[in-house]
Amino acid sequence: MNDTRKRFAIPRNGGKEVIYLCGNSLGLMPHAAAEAVQLQLTKWASEGVEGHFSEHYPWYSLAESLKENLAHVVGGLPHEVAAMGSLSSNLHHLMASFYRPTSKKHKILIEKHAFPSDLYIAQSQLKWHGYDPESGLILLSGDQDNVLHTAEVLDKIEENTGSLALVFLPGVQYHTGQFLDIEKITAFAASKGITVGFDLAHAAGNVPMKLHEWGVDFASWCSYKYLNAGPGAIAGIFVHEKHNPAELPLLAGWWGYPAEKRFQMKDTFIPAVGADGWVQSNPNVLSLASLKASLEIFASVGMPELRKKSMELTDKLEIILTSYNEFEIITPSNPAERGCQLSFRVRNNGRDFFDQLIEHGVIGDWRVPDIIRLAPAPLYNTMEDLDNLDSVIKNVLA
Ligand SMILES: *Cc1c(COP(=O)(O)O)cnc(C)c1O
Repeated sequence: MNDTRKRFAIPRNGGKEVIYLCGNSLGLMPHAAAEAVQLQLTKWASEGVEGHFSEHYPWYSLAESLKENLAHVVGGLPHEVAAMGSLSSNLHHLMASFYRPTSKKHKILIEKHAFPSDLYIAQSQLKWHGYDPESGLILLSGDQDNVLHTAEVLDKIEENTGSLALVFLPGVQYHTGQFLDIEKITAFAASKGITVGFDLAHAAGNVPMKLHEWGVDFASWCSYKYLNAGPGAIAGIFVHEKHNPAELPLLAGWWGYPAEKRFQMKDTFIPAVGADGWVQSNPNVLSLASLKASLEIFASVGMPELRKKSMELTDKLEIILTSYNEFEIITPSNPAERGCQLSFRVRNNGRDFFDQLIEHGVIGDWRVPDIIRLAPAPLYNTMEDLDNLDSVIKNVLA
């Protein structure tokens, strides 16, 4: 997979390729994505509405055509995934089916320092159902660096079994880069009869998962981080096949109707099989086109191979960072408990140091109050990027 970098546009600064370590925030553009989007624009220009069904990439079935590659990325079955909507609204949408609180059992287990959208979603779901958004949350505090211990998660589930309606966690934590033990947490919650949903924003395209095998109830992710589908790209959902959309309360839209019968325009909603039953609207074709192009790169490499390269890169980044006394890595040191991102604190003047990195062409990101995140993405970052980073750091600290 050494030549996948060629398949991406690498941003330049003053004519020189930057050291782009920010795929955790916005993945780079595959050249094939630009071509795919242009193809759809041309099709639109030349065919108008006929483009929905005409031979080449009919819009009507574009979402269907990328399912298999999407399923591969998250370890689901093709009928368990769908490309739709955007992450935060998908999570609300899925909770309409999977967060069914009662006065006795309405609490949501979530991290104290979850990504704000996740906290807002959990709080507003409680409020929407008439419960107190503060006392309705059971918070996981993690250690002083916000790293969670699986034991704490399981203990909290055990302690609150009688009142918990939902466990809602990230796959990979955005701030620390920790890869949670989705399998163990899901199995334990399931043994207590509690629904489990994951926000996979930082996990999809970063770490291999087996959502089907692990029995995860539902999940959603965005496609503009490691999935490289472009800013604001169409998101994805996973719903385990054990859940039948025909037997659950569901906020329906016409695109959730079986595709082959949709234009019968019937008055009563019947959901399509699997995750498709939750789709509400006809999807953004330009965004689907870039997602499809990007997923083809993932499929050609395969998640196991991608993970292997990812671990080599991140190990090297760790060796570089730990060779300086200035940095304190907060991401777990066990490679199985992280994806490609390392988060670290700079002992003195972290913000100054970060600004200097940018000046030297290193693109990472800064998270208040004092954390730098760098993520070597295996599809386009190389060992050479990291050697160059090392030289920049030496330079900046000299
Ligand atoms: C990036 C990110 C989001 C973004 O949500 P959108 O609805 O796509 O804006 C949500 N949750 C987490 C954990 C994220 O990292």
